[in-house]
Order: sequence, then structure tokens, then C-alpha cells
Amino acid sequence: DLALYAAKNAGRGRFEVYREGMLEHEASKRVFEQDLAEALALGQLELWYQPLFCLPERRLVGFEALVRWRHPERGLVPPSEFIPVAESCGLISSIGAWVMDEACRRAAQWPDDLYMSINVSAVQLRSATLSSHLHQALTRHRLPASRIELEITETAIVENSEHLAVVLAGLRAIGVRIAMDDFGTGYSSLAHLREFKVDRIKIDRSFIAAYASDDGSAAIVRAVLSMAGQLSIDTTAEGIEQEDQLHSLIELGCGTAQGYLLGRPLEAGAADALVHADQPSGPQALPSVA
Ligand code: C2E
Ligand code: MG
Ligand code: MG
Ligand code: MG
Repeated sequence: DLALYAAKNAGRGRFEVYREGMLEHEASKRVFEQDLAEALALGQLELWYQPLFCLPERRLVGFEALVRWRHPERGLVPPSEFIPVAESCGLISSIGAWVMDEACRRAAQWPDDLYMSINVSAVQLRSATLSSHLHQALTRHRLPASRIELEITETAIVENSEHLAVVLAGLRAIGVRIAMDDFGTGYSSLAHLREFKVDRIKIDRSFIAAYASDDGSAAIVRAVLSMAGQLSIDTTAEGIEQEDQLHSLIELGCGTAQGYLLGRPLEAGAADALVHADQPSGPQALPSVA
């Protein structure tokens, strides 16, 4: 395939193609997929860890693992640029297995009152290998399942409804918790919350961002927190960037906070330092925004 060969050998030039978002071209798409497969084999994928704090104390309670691709020429590539590709070409299963293993390995090195939250895509939920990959990672690193939370999106729930109740029940039987990520942005109904017995709702950051300026968003945040409270579902507010947002969420009884105000995603070494930092109590002890 000459076109593919040309693209593959164009060196730096081919990355321009990715950047322009022109993956609809079949040849460049195949090169990208091939590079991504190699990235996994070459150890170019990294997990970064964003700290999670319980409210109102702002005590560190865990981390969300977020994957990045350390590309030799393009630098750090965010997941939004390669996870969708991985999902469409079948690589998500092996990338997901790697993420699971690496996140469990890291969590096993940290104190056992910290949990690790791992993103799982809709495609992974459809695959039969997810629970065996999880089980292997937990066993290999001698990590109790209770240390792990799996984040799934509403889209995953809608796309997989029939089969999903069984899959989630199986995962919860292993002992991991299930969080519904980006809550409010998808199309799932409230009935799904009861049907699938999620342990946590993560309120999407778009509602937090609009909280002060938009009455509708504020009403939704209040309603979700109240409903979650009545259903005994834990809550996390995503994307907290400002003190006033944090104060509002504390007043409303939100359980956990995540966002640039409190801590950006950190490389493994920096997350490690945060875990082991001797933190006196109070807001001054928080890591500064990088
Ligand atoms: P997500 O699961 O909702 O993760 C939160 C995203 O919001 C992260 O982006 C994080 O860096 C960003 N964020 C956190 N706090 C703030 C804030 O205060 N302000 C703003 N503007 N953003 C904030 P990131 O790391 O680029 O990840 C994007 C998405 O990629 C994730 O959204 C998740 O859906 C997906 N993803 C990341 N890692 C994985 C993975 O290992 N597997 C799968 N399947 N998906 C992943
Ligand atoms: Mg997430
Ligand atoms: Mg999220
Ligand atoms: Mg989100």
C-alpha cells in the first residue's frame, strides 16, 4: 500500500495530519493506529493521577488515573486524541488492561485509605475480558478490590443497557465500586441509577462551571446532590476551579471534590510526593495550582 507507506515514512510531516484532525483519511488513520499499538509496546503510555479530596475537610482520599501518550515527537498527547481511535480499532482492550494493571500497581504502593479511580469506556464494558483483566491486576499486585472504583459514562449505560446490569453486577461482586462519570451530560434516565446500583455520581464539570452564572445549572447540581443523598450514593463534583464553587458545594453537602483548584493531574512521582507529604490540616496544606 503505497499511500500508507508514504504517510508512514513522511516523518514529522505525518503528525501534522493528526493535528489537523484529518483521521478520516484511511491511510493516515491506519498509521495512527499502528503508532498507537507500538506506543503500548514501547511503553510510551503513562498514567497521571489527579487527587480527590473529601469535603468539607479537603482531606486527600484518592486519585483518578488519567492516561497520556508520551509521544517522541508530539509531546504529551491527551486521551481525547487517542482513546476514541483506540475504541474504534480494537486497541482499547489492551490499553485498558495496561491502565488497569498500572493503576493497581501504583495503588498498592500507597496507603490503604486511598482509593484509585479508573476510567472504563463503553467498548471495554462490552468486552468479556474486562473482569478478567481487573481480576488479574488485583491479584498480581495483591490489591483489595475495595481500593478500586471504575468510572463509566452514561453513554456506556445507554448503549449497553441489556447486558450491562449483568456486567456491573459481576464487577461489584469482585468488590470494586462503580462511579457514573460526567453525570448530566448523557441520556440515561434516573431509573438507571436504581437499576444499576452505582456507588457514586460524578457531577460533570460543565454544571460546576455554570453554577454561579446559570440558575438552571445550579438547580440541577442541588437536585442531583439531594437525590444522591436520598439514594445513599456518594458524590464527586468535577472541575472545581474556584473557591466560591468549592464553598457552594460544601454548603450543599457534596462528598468529594476534584479540580484544578485543589490539584491538577500529576505525574506518578509528584502524586507519590503528595501522598507522602506530611500534611498539616487546613487549606494552606493543599498543593498549589501548577
Ligand atoms: P474524565 O474521566 O471526566 O476526566 C476528567 C478530565 O477533566 C481530565 O481530562 C482532567 O484533566 C480534567 N479536569 C480535571 N479537573 C479539571 C478542572 O478543574 N478544569 C478543567 N477544565 N478540566 C479538569 P483528561 O485527562 O484530558 O481526560 C479526558 C477524558 O479522557 C476523561 O474524562 C476520560 O473520559 C478519558 N480518559 C482518561 N484516561 C482514560 C483511561 O485510562 N481510559 C479511558 N477509557 N478513558 C480515559
Ligand atoms: Mg473519569
Ligand atoms: Mg469525569
Ligand atoms: Mg468530565
